[in-house]
Amino acid sequence: MSLSREQMLAEMGISPLWELRQPAHAAAGESEAAPAPDVAPVAAATAPAPVVAAGAGVALGWDELEAAVRACRNCELCQQRKQAVPGVGDRQPDWLFIGEGPGAEEDARGEPFVGQAGKLLDAMLAAIDFNRGERVYIANAVKCRPPGNRTPEAGEMAACRPWLVRQIELLQPKVIVLLGKAAVHSLLGEDKALAAMRGRRFEYAGIPVAVTYHPAYLLRNLPDKAKGWEDLLFARRLLGGK
Ligand code: URA
Repeated sequence: MSLSREQMLAEMGISPLWELRQPAHAAAGESEAAPAPDVAPVAAATAPAPVVAAGAGVALGWDELEAAVRACRNCELCQQRKQAVPGVGDRQPDWLFIGEGPGAEEDARGEPFVGQAGKLLDAMLAAIDFNRGERVYIANAVKCRPPGNRTPEAGEMAACRPWLVRQIELLQPKVIVLLGKAAVHSLLGEDKALAAMRGRRFEYAGIPVAVTYHPAYLLRNLPDKAKGWEDLLFARRLLGGK
């Protein structure tokens, strides 16, 4: 392991590496009976019915899609945004990470995950030898900042979902990682606790999907960072270890 990767793992708060060998729930003092299984049957994704957005159903190319997202007024989130935040990264990625929605810094800069949570996400990517521009694309369930960084409402996610769907059609990633409950709800229509979904293989449009905690949650719950790392390794296995 290179020094830089060790440094990244340290930044994630999960080194030394031997700490990973004990079950994460034991390290976190939880009373779960068993760690999340590595592989579970594919769950049928019952996605919420998409609201028809301007441009939905039309096979938009990247430029048209980003322009449509930036001009979108399909829900109330458009009213207080500085700008919409379509996504960033490699447009032929292996990995697609989907978060919740832009925060204040993302709203100001027009790029997802540029605040504290983004720094942790970048550290996690670096720990598996990636960065956001290379084999990785990062998007959000909603493209406009929910006021006060509140969780996006179901109707807002449904209104934004056609943009996400089109992004996935264009990206054709090899694996999708859902960061937090909002992303899970938006893409898979699942409302279960994340703890019950981690370590299981889901599928969206034939693409394997892994579920993990949102980086902002991991920043507030440091013992769970090890679980975030485990989930990333699980997603890498879904990808075939590449
Ligand atoms: N949190 C998210 O879910 N997305 C961002 O882009 C930033 C923070």
